[in-house]
Amino acid sequence: MKKLLKKTFTKNLALSAGALTLFSAIAAPGSVMAQQKFVSIGTGGVTGVYYAAGGAICRLVNKDRATHGLRCSVESTGGSVFNVNTIKAGELDLGVVQSDVGYNAYKGEGQFKGQPFEKLRSVFSIHPEPFTILSRKEANIKSFDDLKGKRFNVGNPGSGTRASMEQLLAAKGLDMKFFSLASELRPDEHGSALCDGKIDGFFYGVGHPSANIQDPTTTCGAQLVSITGAEVDKLVADNPYYAKVAIPGGLYQNNPNDTDTYGVLATFVSSSDVPEESVYQVVKAVFDNFEDFKKLHPALGHLKQEEMVVNGLSAPLHPGAEKYFKEKGLIK
Ligand code: GLU
Repeated sequence: MKKLLKKTFTKNLALSAGALTLFSAIAAPGSVMAQQKFVSIGTGGVTGVYYAAGGAICRLVNKDRATHGLRCSVESTGGSVFNVNTIKAGELDLGVVQSDVGYNAYKGEGQFKGQPFEKLRSVFSIHPEPFTILSRKEANIKSFDDLKGKRFNVGNPGSGTRASMEQLLAAKGLDMKFFSLASELRPDEHGSALCDGKIDGFFYGVGHPSANIQDPTTTCGAQLVSITGAEVDKLVADNPYYAKVAIPGGLYQNNPNDTDTYGVLATFVSSSDVPEESVYQVVKAVFDNFEDFKKLHPALGHLKQEEMVVNGLSAPLHPGAEKYFKEKGLIK
């Protein structure tokens, strides 16, 4: 073994001058490679907007890998609550999280009662997510109350969708027994279940336009349903992360009228355990290539940098995000 090593060493020494120059030329990027760091982003189902947004962010980060040595990977997950718990466990570095879920996680409220995640850090907010009910055309559902006794998909465990549904039901003094069936399909399954007549409706907190909603509205004429009333008014008045919003008429086929509802913002979060430099590079990749970022999904098209650094952020800013925003004069 020793002999073999010696032999290789001698052989390397015998490299010609030309080869040596080549060797030193590739040694510089080689040393960046040696320190390569990884950053992972938790998203949602593959047909949602989180997965597309996470993919867009990683693409922009990886484009400049030669200069910063950071390799970004995106993961499809169960959604917001899963992302928070997995960042907390140190198994994901960053994640996309509904602003209501982020608020509850940081403060130890709602589904995180008594277990505040104090190391949760905000990075920036992204697109609005109106709470969306899509119903089977034949089920003739005009309002939330018409869902009584229907087969309704309330969202998979671990999703922000599900957490927000539970909060809405509680605000209305109801529980899952309100439905004849409360199914827990994932977002990539609920559209076909609806068009196949296996469920009468589903709930989804998602950005618009989304392929996930577009498919059933086009394929089987699925109908958007408003979510309004005194309980919704109170939810919005009592909670800083909720706002009233309308899904514009005509955005989806067979749905010509505005749909009044309420919703949250999608936010990008991390943990104070994640290095400043990693988060700084991710933020820089998005904000330095902002026009490209907005073009990567139609739900991202209306984003404004000055809103993204404030709106919907309930945990303190991650130091890496804060550093970049200060450099760019986006915050003081
Ligand atoms: N808001 C959803 C959730 O947290 C995910 C939406 C999406 O993937 O675009 O469960």
